[in-house]
Amino acid sequence: MRRPDPSVDTSGDRTGAECPYCGSTDTEREHPKGPSLCRSMHYCNACEQPFEKFE
Ligand SMILES: [Zn+2]
Repeated sequence: MRRPDPSVDTSGDRTGAECPYCGSTDTEREHPKGPSLCRSMHYCNACEQPFEKFE
């Protein structure tokens, strides 16, 4: 499923994804260990929660 409003994500993949817990974009991308190419791991610096983002 595509995100309904792509215009919100104006900074591309270089900056953090939006945290689903607190909405912060102060996140870091982490590299998954497995061959899960369709998703990526991120870590929120604001609330210190890891989360997955599907792409
Ligand atoms: Zn957060």
